[in-house]
Amino acid sequence: MLLWGREAGKRMQARVRRLGIMGGTFDPIHYGHLVTAETARTELALDKVVFIPSGRPPHKKVRDISPARHRYLMTVLAVATNSWFEVSRTELDRPGYSYTVDTVAEFRRGYGGGTDIFFITGADACLEILTWKGVDELLANCYIIAASRPGFSLTDMGQRLGSLVSLVGERIFTLEVPALAISSTDIRRRVERGKSIKYLLPEAVEQYIKKNSLYCLQANDEEG
Ligand code: ATP
Ligand code: MG
Repeated sequence: MLLWGREAGKRMQARVRRLGIMGGTFDPIHYGHLVTAETARTELALDKVVFIPSGRPPHKKVRDISPARHRYLMTVLAVATNSWFEVSRTELDRPGYSYTVDTVAEFRRGYGGGTDIFFITGADACLEILTWKGVDELLANCYIIAASRPGFSLTDMGQRLGSLVSLVGERIFTLEVPALAISSTDIRRRVERGKSIKYLLPEAVEQYIKKNSLYCLQANDEEG
């Protein structure tokens, strides 16, 4: 029997027992994000990983961020070759600020109680997230996976987390991923200065950046 629309979506979600979700500005997405998500997928036996480009993050100024459609399309291009990866528009389509706690709650409602949700984050962002509003609700709805990231010590992070929450080792876990000292900030600066960004991110994303003149000094600052 062929199922379409909402019913088909429900059946597909029912098969997902272990769901990874990875939020980020993805401005642009790069191999640091991808290797982190893939390591989490394989190490934690995740059924899939959903990338969620952020809408209006409360912790970053909107004018610093590229229009949502560019960040969404770059993320789609980057994950196109991995059949376990998907991209969600949920934060982009939701008006107002985007809070991780609300996003995770939405996934919890959509997938139901039978799915374990793993929120994948780098060691730097993990500390930030755990000081945001609604951390108790967040930890009730998902496990947090704090991935190693060059320049950020997991041990330090663990110690600082210990004083923040008592759930390290229960709801919060650390994950060693191959170290890639790549950041979107560095990529944007390289483009601005005319330096190469080859091998830092998928070629399709590199071409997209060129085609749309992103991160150049005269880059457009339109919304949407
Ligand atoms: P920016 O420099 O603009 O902050 P970024 O490279 O940190 O960009 P984000 O979109 O802010 O990318 O990050 C999304 C998530 O990916 C965060 O949880 C972040 O910690 C994680 N992350 C980003 N780069 C890496 C990396 N090289 N290794 C491991 N995790 C990473
Ligand atoms: Mg960042």
